[in-house]
Amino acid sequence: MKRIYLDHAATTPLFPEARDAMLPWLGEGFGNPSSLHAEGRAAKAAIDASREKFADAFGCLFGEVIFTGSGTEAANLAVIGGALKSDRRRVLLGAAEHHCVLHTKGLLEHLGYQVELIPVDREAVVHPDAVQGLLADDVALVSVMHANNEFGSINPVAEIAEQAHRVGAVFHVDAVQTFPGDWQVADLGADMVSVSAHKFYGPKSVGALYCRAGVELQPLVLGGGQEREMRAGTENIAGIVGAGVALDWVRAHPSSRREARDAFESALTIEREMSAVSAERLDGHCHFRISGLDAETFLIRLDREGISASSGAACSSGSLEPSHVMIAAGRTEAEAREGLRFTFGKDSTVAEAERAAQIVNTVGQELLDKLRK
Ligand code: PLP
Repeated sequence: MKRIYLDHAATTPLFPEARDAMLPWLGEGFGNPSSLHAEGRAAKAAIDASREKFADAFGCLFGEVIFTGSGTEAANLAVIGGALKSDRRRVLLGAAEHHCVLHTKGLLEHLGYQVELIPVDREAVVHPDAVQGLLADDVALVSVMHANNEFGSINPVAEIAEQAHRVGAVFHVDAVQTFPGDWQVADLGADMVSVSAHKFYGPKSVGALYCRAGVELQPLVLGGGQEREMRAGTENIAGIVGAGVALDWVRAHPSSRREARDAFESALTIEREMSAVSAERLDGHCHFRISGLDAETFLIRLDREGISASSGAACSSGSLEPSHVMIAAGRTEAEAREGLRFTFGKDSTVAEAERAAQIVNTVGQELLDKLRK
């Protein structure tokens, strides 16, 4: 039986046309974009063509796109680099952010900043009221993700942007799970937006940061003058080219994952607690927990049955940590080990979704029966 991949929020397969476009830049197109000769100029032109595509998708200026080595690096640059350029000393981060944002806390505190987490509701949504309670004119930067990578719930970022701007804070949005989408940076109200190519059928290790002209950033990778002196290091030309091609393709072929996701959810009979029900959520996302069933055991069984899913939580030294998102969203530590995430992609079919749901029902029931014996 063909395996069913339902972990598109973790990563997506490289789009074949993106891979084809990358190959010349791993061969004859070996020039250094900083070189003045023909090989160098060709490489520079390839990066610039890709930057043009990102600027178009963001709805920003060409010079407002900084390529990085990952979505993580883009978010680090925004949060740490943004805070470092401010003379204010408080930073607010959503409590259910991805670790690429949350783990800046330790370094920022070490550097003398006071970092506070904005509480989220049971669906991992940040409410403007919660932000308002923490905002004052000593806040340098606020970071709230567009959509949560575990629950798939969408935050009211435009409203939060307005609040942040009212006190003169800079606002960063981690939009890794929603880019490209039916929005542009102006719709989010953000000063900085971080994205990652491997979430939209591009290559891994290519990220980008939109940074509004006039917003000051302290570069974190120091060296040459690449990326307008915002990110030193000779560029990953093949990766950036592949990301641009994937971006163009995905934008030209918008497709909904909702049909497959809804078919999956309709076919689920096992008793579960859905993580996001009332919140607006990503159309390819389904996250729930089955009370008493450890996610790790369940996911290993599903893998054996040919289904690739995840908990969305971090895995360290081969075992699942309790999900910090579920904890932030008010679950107990035991419950936070029960989260299951199924995320659908552009090629997911209704038939696959229904078959996966049957397997989830059967395996889940079997494991529950075993526990109850
Ligand atoms: N932010 C979110 C919301 C994510 O889901 C991810 C990836 O899982 C990242 C950031 C990190 O992106 P990258 O894998 O490119 O470092």
